Amino acid sequence: FEVSGSPIIGTQNEWKGVLLVFHEITEIKKLEQMRKDFVANVSHELKTPITSIKGFSETLLDGAMKDESTLEDFLKIILNESDRLQTLIEDLLDLSRIEQHGFHLNIEEFDIGILMSDIITLLKGKAEEKNIILHINPISKTLFIKGDYSRLKQVFINLLSNALTYTPSGGYVEIEVKEIEEMVHIQIKDTGIGIEQEEIPRIFERFYRVDKARSRNSGGTGLGLAIVKHIVEAHKGSISVTSVKEKGTTFTISLEKVLPAI
Ligand code: ADP
Repeated sequence: FEVSGSPIIGTQNEWKGVLLVFHEITEIKKLEQMRKDFVANVSHELKTPITSIKGFSETLLDGAMKDESTLEDFLKIILNESDRLQTLIEDLLDLSRIEQHGFHLNIEEFDIGILMSDIITLLKGKAEEKNIILHINPISKTLFIKGDYSRLKQVFINLLSNALTYTPSGGYVEIEVKEIEEMVHIQIKDTGIGIEQEEIPRIFERFYRVDKARSRNSGGTGLGLAIVKHIVEAHKGSISVTSVKEKGTTFTISLEKVLPAI
């Protein structure tokens, strides 16, 4: 509902009350607004790197490329911005495919420990670059889950990569796998900048970023967590977040484990 109000004044100019009008905003209108916001966001996100690519190429052609070090610096920026565009377009296509046609999951049974070591191998370079200690709590037993290996890999790459992005140099990031009744809980804990309580529900929205500049500088598109949520829900799992500003954030993914055959 949208509420608007106006005072009711009597003939002697006395205050008689307030007239409140409730307007119902239909689901259709809300969807329409969301679609408009989405188009506006996409256009803006595409425009930023293109403006930069154009600007730097023009400056080079105007003579700046005669200086070899400027040439190299500008080409690096152009390449970086092109990478951003590519990631953005890939994420957008992925999200729109998921939202239009749902998922085709390639379900298989696998050991969650193998997936975790796969992720660590992929991202330990990024941790080393930032001087962040990346630690996995050893799992005392083998836990099998049923799911799409490459989609779940995408989920954990996203979460771990965010943990490394939003944790300052010298910090600590930990992955913990726990078994709780018939579920497997995988936690990604960081010691980073944290998220304000009221922002937490919003970070799963498309393009929502607490700090746009920071996210953009680190190559973020603001689409990662929206995709992550879709994938987890398609697996009938859940995702939750706890965070303390300036202390750190923990993302927990819960997935059903495969029960051993009796
Ligand atoms: P991005 O590409 O911007 O990282 P995401 O959808 O992955 O987009 O995340 C949305 C926003 O949530 C981020 O821009 C950031 O503000 C916040 N966020 C995500 N993960 C973390 C984290 N581990 N610590 C602090 N903030 C985070």
